[in-house]
Amino acid sequence: MKILMLARNPNLYSHQRLVEAAEARGHEIDIYDTLRIYMNITSHRPEVRYQGKSLTGYDAIIPRIGASVTYYGAAVLRQFEMMGVWPLNESVAIVRSRDKLRSLQLLAREGIGLPVTAFAHDTRAVDDVLDIAGGEPVVIKLLEGTQGVGVVLADTRRSAKSVIEAFRGAKVNILVQEFIKEAGGADIRTFVVGGKVIAAMKRQGGEGEFRSNIHRGGSATTIKITPEERSTAIRAAKVMGLNVAGVDLLRANHGPVVMEVNSSPGLEGIEGATEIDVAGAIIDFMAANHGPAKTKTKGKG
Ligand code: ADP
Repeated sequence: MKILMLARNPNLYSHQRLVEAAEARGHEIDIYDTLRIYMNITSHRPEVRYQGKSLTGYDAIIPRIGASVTYYGAAVLRQFEMMGVWPLNESVAIVRSRDKLRSLQLLAREGIGLPVTAFAHDTRAVDDVLDIAGGEPVVIKLLEGTQGVGVVLADTRRSAKSVIEAFRGAKVNILVQEFIKEAGGADIRTFVVGGKVIAAMKRQGGEGEFRSNIHRGGSATTIKITPEERSTAIRAAKVMGLNVAGVDLLRANHGPVVMEVNSSPGLEGIEGATEIDVAGAIIDFMAANHGPAKTKTKGKG
């Protein structure tokens, strides 16, 4: 295979591992900075260019598109899809997964377990919103937050109301969510590739922290997941239309609930915790499944 990876920083662990795994298997792989690619979007023959030359001859694309460049990155990927190049994850699925609210709505429609979640614009019905989320304590989340920033646990109604008012005052969108206390500050990251969970780790928040993000001092260990957790993760990736996904679960009393489905999951934490060759599994999946006529949406959608 001749692979093109869209990534802003070629030196990240995840990107280096994918290059290593591809080359070890005899594939050719080039990395291009997503934001330095440009294109003529009106041409009958779609084309993608970089420093004056046309990027052609690729069999497959690995999109590693950061949240801050979703819009441009999806446009570049869509252009490749229209040229018939097979993407590991399709642009439509990536864009879908980047919208937290839309993702939860799609997962709920398919009956996948979720923390009870309320979404409102107006703060006048705040008591009802808090009741929907099961009453305090509740978790209040910025829709655009990542790495645990903007995720607040409010223990009392009074504090919940002031947090909601503060966020609304700042004109940001928020979700109000049931607090899954029994998760004990831990979550499970499952790594799905081609409809299978190939690795799973437990992330535990630091002392006194309900958020398990590694960036916030959490630690990761390997974990054996239950069949129900496995099928929940696989279904969540499928609903989002992602071949590769990091599906984050919480262990609730009533079973696993999905918190988030990530379309560009990092490899460092999961390979470190589990010692599984995740990069190799991704490349093997690509080798077995790529093909010019195999893109489902070709950017339509
Ligand atoms: P981000 O996408 O910014 O990482 P998350 O929604 O994943 O935000 O939340 C960060 C962490 O907070 C999660 O990994 C989890 O440990 C904890 N958390 C989030 N929502 C809940 C919840 N409803 N109940 C219990 N813990 C939660």
